[in-house]
Amino acid sequence: DDSKPLNFIEHIVEEDLANNFPKEHLRFRFPPEPNGYLHIGHASSISLNFGLGLRYNAPVNLRFDDTNPAKEEQEFVDAIKRDVEWLGYQWDTERYASDYFQQLYDWAIYLVKKGKAYVDDQSSEEMAAQKGTPTDPGMNSPNRDRSVEENLALFNQMKKGDFEEGTHVLRAKIDMSSSNMLMRDPIMYRVLHKAHHRTNTDWCIYPMYDWTHGESDYIEQVSHSFCTLEFAMHRELYDWFLDQVYDEKKVRPKQREFARRNLSHTVVSKRKLAQLVENGVVNSWDDPRMPTISGLRRRGYTPESIRNFTETIGIAKRDNLIDVSLLEFQVRNHLNKIAPRVMGVLDPLKVVITNYPEGEEEWLDAENNPEDETAGSRKVPFSREFYIEKEDFREEANKKFFRLKLGKEVRLKNAYIIKAESCTKDTDGNIIEVQCTYDPKSKSGSGTEESLRKVKGTLHWVSIKHALKAEVRLYDRLFTEESPDTHKDKDFMEFVNPDSLQVITGLLEPHLKDAKIGDRVQFQRMGYFCVDKDSTTEKLVFNKTVGLRDSWAK
Ligand code: ATP
Ligand code: MG
Ligand code: MG
Repeated sequence: DDSKPLNFIEHIVEEDLANNFPKEHLRFRFPPEPNGYLHIGHASSISLNFGLGLRYNAPVNLRFDDTNPAKEEQEFVDAIKRDVEWLGYQWDTERYASDYFQQLYDWAIYLVKKGKAYVDDQSSEEMAAQKGTPTDPGMNSPNRDRSVEENLALFNQMKKGDFEEGTHVLRAKIDMSSSNMLMRDPIMYRVLHKAHHRTNTDWCIYPMYDWTHGESDYIEQVSHSFCTLEFAMHRELYDWFLDQVYDEKKVRPKQREFARRNLSHTVVSKRKLAQLVENGVVNSWDDPRMPTISGLRRRGYTPESIRNFTETIGIAKRDNLIDVSLLEFQVRNHLNKIAPRVMGVLDPLKVVITNYPEGEEEWLDAENNPEDETAGSRKVPFSREFYIEKEDFREEANKKFFRLKLGKEVRLKNAYIIKAESCTKDTDGNIIEVQCTYDPKSKSGSGTEESLRKVKGTLHWVSIKHALKAEVRLYDRLFTEESPDTHKDKDFMEFVNPDSLQVITGLLEPHLKDAKIGDRVQFQRMGYFCVDKDSTTEKLVFNKTVGLRDSWAK
């Protein structure tokens, strides 16, 4: 959309173009580490990078930042690809940092030969003690001045697998008194005797993030490398590593930072989300309570609603917390336009129409979506006995209660006007049945004077004889706290909401028997629901996506 004001990231690109950076050299990337599923925070980064690709008609790579074999898996690679595609974006090429292990190794040798890298075999404690503090310079490692030959031999031994994990590292020789701690001879390689999900056991030394990321951008000729603010201090190192290998004739990647997005009442960190899965707080990465893209999809979110959300919150320069109601607003807004209306009773109370002929039934016309003329209509069965919501009936109530009460009338959606005459209770005093009379001439859409009569209150209902039973899963916030992972002396796990899932049996109009996994509907007056992947032909399972209005008590 060209009419929108540019965000500060787009300004950076515009400025480069204005300073004669060739437009055809623009290239971006989205660089997830495959150590978990993508979450709603990633959606911001995806929208940003792929949005730039669309704006400038430039390629965007999907790069897996897979340098840590201990935590990465093929399952996560597959899930990430599925989610980016589902969000509606297309990458130019699929890349893996692990594809560059050989090139990175060759460059590391080159640095060693230039005297810019050395092998250190001190313990990590010794190295930490030499690091100094931001205000005190560090101390040079006693191994800093090893000869090139010795470094090459040791580095080769590291690669061959001669050393145990944690005994040897390759370090860049930069500046132990730099005011930027990251420049104090950072580690480039460590020994890890672990199989990698792609390179298997080819390597037992693995490159660190800082050494890998900028060089990968350079190999792919990414022009603009956007990352989150925690990498701002890493930029100097990113540039130092590039300086070592940069060839003037090539595009030099540029790192710039934007704010991480946090969502209220949840956590957006793969590590923490993994903890929820591992501890059984949720059932899986795609549990509908999870803020993952696959969790949101299973919950009933549409790609449009997530894209509109990221678009609305935009790109920021400072970290902040976005209220989850903004996300819910977007899905409600979109589902209002596209979701067919159906009737479903979630907490049933039996109603009998005493003047409706026994054994009779009729099929009434029901409009599928008042927001969408093309959505058409369907038939809904009506009969003498049906369910309404328990909360829609009271024996007595004040004037503001526009639902059913004794002696008063309401309209049944798509059907008749009924009047409550009496009710029956069980021995505990619970109401178990309401007896009504109906006005046979008041049928909706029949055009009679009676059908046009105004009564306050319209209820949804489901004919008992025709009702389809389904499991309905209702969700609440996963955490009771707005910002569960920012408490100083409490772990975020302490704020897990024990009642985030409630499973009930709903009674639905029979039309829904053909609903397919992923179908989204509005249960009129109750909210938006979608068919869960646990559904079978014997048993339908619905997830509540969101209510019709923002009803959550603040
Ligand atoms: P996590 O802590 O969830 O693992 P990460 O930053 O380590 O997050 P990556 O897989 O490295 O996850 O992220 C891929 C890209 O998405 C990076 O550029 C990262 O900066 C960006 N990103 C991750 N989380 C967010 C967020 N909450 N808001 C905006 N961008 C994010
Ligand atoms: Mg990362
Ligand atoms: Mg991470």
